[in-house]
Amino acid sequence: MIQWNEHLINGARRAVREGRTVRIHDAATEAPLGEVHLGNAGDVDEAVEAARLALPGWQQMGVDARAALLRAVADALESMGQDLAHGISREVGMPLKLSQRIQVEAPIAAWRATAALADTFSFVSEVGNSRVTQVPVGVVAAITPWNYPLHQITGKLAPALLAGCTVVLKPSELAPAASAGLMAACERAGLPPGVLNIVLGDAEVGHALVTHPDVHMVSFTGSTAVGRKVAALAAGDMKRVSMELGGKSAAMVLPGADLARAVKATVASCFLNSGQTCSAITRLIVSREDYPACRALLAEAVAGMRMGDPADASTRIGPLLSALQRERVLAHIAEAEQGGFDRIAGGPDAPVPEHGYFVAPTIYGNVAPDSRLANEEVFGPVLAVLCYETVEDAIALANGTRYGLAASVWAVDEASGEAVANALRAGQVDVNGARFNAAAPFGGFGMSGVGREGGVYGLEEFLEPRAIQFPR
Ligand code: NAD
Repeated sequence: MIQWNEHLINGARRAVREGRTVRIHDAATEAPLGEVHLGNAGDVDEAVEAARLALPGWQQMGVDARAALLRAVADALESMGQDLAHGISREVGMPLKLSQRIQVEAPIAAWRATAALADTFSFVSEVGNSRVTQVPVGVVAAITPWNYPLHQITGKLAPALLAGCTVVLKPSELAPAASAGLMAACERAGLPPGVLNIVLGDAEVGHALVTHPDVHMVSFTGSTAVGRKVAALAAGDMKRVSMELGGKSAAMVLPGADLARAVKATVASCFLNSGQTCSAITRLIVSREDYPACRALLAEAVAGMRMGDPADASTRIGPLLSALQRERVLAHIAEAEQGGFDRIAGGPDAPVPEHGYFVAPTIYGNVAPDSRLANEEVFGPVLAVLCYETVEDAIALANGTRYGLAASVWAVDEASGEAVANALRAGQVDVNGARFNAAAPFGGFGMSGVGREGGVYGLEEFLEPRAIQFPR
C-alpha cells in the first residue's frame, strides 16, 4: 500500500505528524491502494508562513523568470506522464486512454499556455493621469476536488504563480496521485522554497486555510454545498474568493437541428468520466415531437458503450471513485424510479462488472422539471431528458435550475444557435458541437460559482489593479 504522508513546506518534504488517515481504493477492483495521512491547523500555519515569507522574492523575480519555471514544471510533469495517468485512472476510474489525454496531457498543455501569457499580458497600463499596475493578490489558498485532480490544481496554480502569488495547496484527500506527482515536479523544476506549499488533509485543513489571517485569497473548486461554507468564512475578513462549483448543464435541441449528432455528443459528455464532471451535460431538452426519435437514438448510443476495466483500451465507461460515490448515485436512481419516469437505459438493476464501483449508464425520459433528477447534480452517469413545447419553454427549462455552468445549443444554423445561447445563464455555451477552448473563460453563473478560470481570465483572478496618480 502506498503511504501519502508528506507535506511540502518551504521547499522541503515534511512528514505528516498527526495519526488520522483516509484509505484509498482502486476504483475498478476495490482493492486498497494506499493511505492518505491528514495534516492539521499547525501544518497550515507553517505552510502559510512559508508562503508569506516567499512572496516578496517571488514577485521581484519578474514574470519572465516565473514563466520559465512554469515551463520547467510542465517538462517535469511530462516526464512522469504515464505514472500520473495510471495513478489518476486507478483512483478516479477514468479509462486509461482518456486519462492520459484529459487528466495529464491537457493540464501539462495548460501549464505551458499559462506561461505563454507572460509574453502578451499587459501588467501596466496608462489611464489619464494614472498608471495602473496589476499586482499579485498575495498568498493564495487553493482547495481542489478529486474528479480531474491535476487539471483543477493546474487551473489555480499556474496562473497564481505566473501572477506572482505564492500558494498553499490543499488537494483532495480522495485522489492523492496528482499532487504527489506535482510535488516531485516542482522539486525537479527548482521552484524556490515557499512559493508552492502542499498540505495533505481534509475539511479540517481546508477550514484552517480559509480562516487563516495571512491568506489573501481562496481559490476553491468543489461542491456547491462546501463552496457556500468556504465563501461565507472567507467573507469574514474580506478575502478574495474564486469558486468553481457544481452544475446541471443542459443541451437544447432546437427544431430542425441535427438530432442524431446532438444525442451522440450529449451521451459522450454526460458519461465522460462516468458522469464525474462538473460541466457534464446531464439534461437533454428536446421538443415533444422529437422525443420518440430521440429515445431510440439514446438507447442505441448507450448500447454501444463498453463498461469495464479502465486499463482496457476498448472501455468507454469506468467505475466511480468509491463505494460512497456509488451509493449516492444509486440513491438518485432509486428516487428517479419512484418518480415514474420513462427509463430509456440502465437503472438500478442493470448488469455491471462484479468488482469495482460501477453504475450502468442510465437515462430517464419525460423527467418532471420540478424533480430532484432535473435539478440536482448527481455526479454519476445519469441523464435526464425533458420535453418542451415552444423554444421559450426550452430556454426556461434550461435556465430553470440554480446552477449555470455549461450548456449546448443545437440549431439549424449558428445565428439561431447564438441567439438562444445569449438567452442562457451559463458560463460556457457551445453551439452545434463546437469543441472546448482552454483559452476561453470557464466558470459559472448562480450556484455554479464566482470568477473564471482559463486563459487570461484565469490570470486576472490572481491580480489586483493598483492605480498611482501623477500630477500631469
Ligand atoms: P467537495 O466540495 O466535497 O470537496 C472539495 C475540496 O474541499 C476537497 O479538497 C475537500 O477536502 C475540501 N473541503 C471539504 N470540506 C471543506 C470545508 N468545510 N472547508 C474547506 N475545505 C473543505 O467536492 P468533491 O466531492 O471533491 O468534488 C466534486 C464536486 O466538485 C462536484 O460538485 C463538482 O461539480 C465540483 N467541481 C466543480 C468544478 C468547476 O470547475 N466548476 C470542477 C470540478 C468539480
